[in-house]
Amino acid sequence: MQFHEVIIMNDVKDIIIIGAGLAGLSALLYAKRAGYDVSVIEKDVYYGSQIAKTSIVDNYPGIPDVMGADLLDAFKKHAIYNKDDVISGQVTCFEYSDDIWKVFTKNDTYKAKTVIYAAGAGHRNLGVPGEKEYTGRGVSYCATCDGAFFRDKDIAVCGGGNTAAQDVIYMMDIARKIYLIHRRSTFRFSGRILDKIKSADNVEIITDDAVKCINGDNTVSGIELNSGKVIDVSGLFVAIGMNPDTEILSDMNILDENGYIIADETCKTCLKGFFAAGDVRTKPLRQAVTAASDGAVCIESVTEYLKF
Ligand code: NAP
Repeated sequence: MQFHEVIIMNDVKDIIIIGAGLAGLSALLYAKRAGYDVSVIEKDVYYGSQIAKTSIVDNYPGIPDVMGADLLDAFKKHAIYNKDDVISGQVTCFEYSDDIWKVFTKNDTYKAKTVIYAAGAGHRNLGVPGEKEYTGRGVSYCATCDGAFFRDKDIAVCGGGNTAAQDVIYMMDIARKIYLIHRRSTFRFSGRILDKIKSADNVEIITDDAVKCINGDNTVSGIELNSGKVIDVSGLFVAIGMNPDTEILSDMNILDENGYIIADETCKTCLKGFFAAGDVRTKPLRQAVTAASDGAVCIESVTEYLKF
């Protein structure tokens, strides 16, 4: 049992939501409208959400071609009724007894009848030599955050999914040359997007190859591929997917083999009063629209749990 230096807040909330991304904010909106006493705990209110680091989202129904940060802002404006709705803090663990969940942050403890875990996912690492060493010195995981540092430079993007495609498209007008490197011959993103990338005269696509190591001196100077090919670049954007932010749940027996919270479309887990929403849960499609949908569904499940 861990010892916590804590201030116990006396009031028991109906719901505590962990994470102020699209799933968490959607849950907050639905909870507020249903009249629940609810708070969100978020470790990084401004940039914590995956969507804040996404450039253009082109498939959120009804809002074509919206910047990720603008979509998140719209969710915030809609969901946050007053400043007390969002608590800044990093949750470290949970305890459950007598139908009450205790949610521990570094300095405080909060109590609630239900928890909605909507902490999202963080970027995956390549795990090759040079990656750690050059992170922030040429290696980046967010083109929208760091792309401007590579104006008129040669860069590489590694990955074959939507994030890699977005990074390439975002960098087309900034970088001089972009190498898109993918370990397979086919991509996960649509043919329409591939056509757009292929039509750019400053993009070279390299398939069936992967980054073996990242070289440099003080900053990145190049990458070596498994094929032996060496490419001179000043930057590498790693866009190879996400890992769920569920480390603090590892001893709660609710995670699958990839670290996702096992929950169905109702967002219920096998733990009483503990729900999962958004990219952290097992689901076939992780998108902005399915995260937002989970937030709404979760409150329906919370209502069923609290009232019946
Ligand atoms: P993703 O769809 O999981 O794709 C990850 C890519 O990285 C895959 O092509 C994978 O290769 C490759 N990869 C994984 N591990 C690798 C490694 N160790 N070395 C080299 N390559 C590796 O991840 P994502 O692109 O970040 O997207 C995550 C989710 O967000 C997806 O559901 C995506 O559709 C969604 N998303 C949507 C939008 C949008 O709607 N506009 C934007 C961004 C992301 P394989 O193909 O061989 O597995």
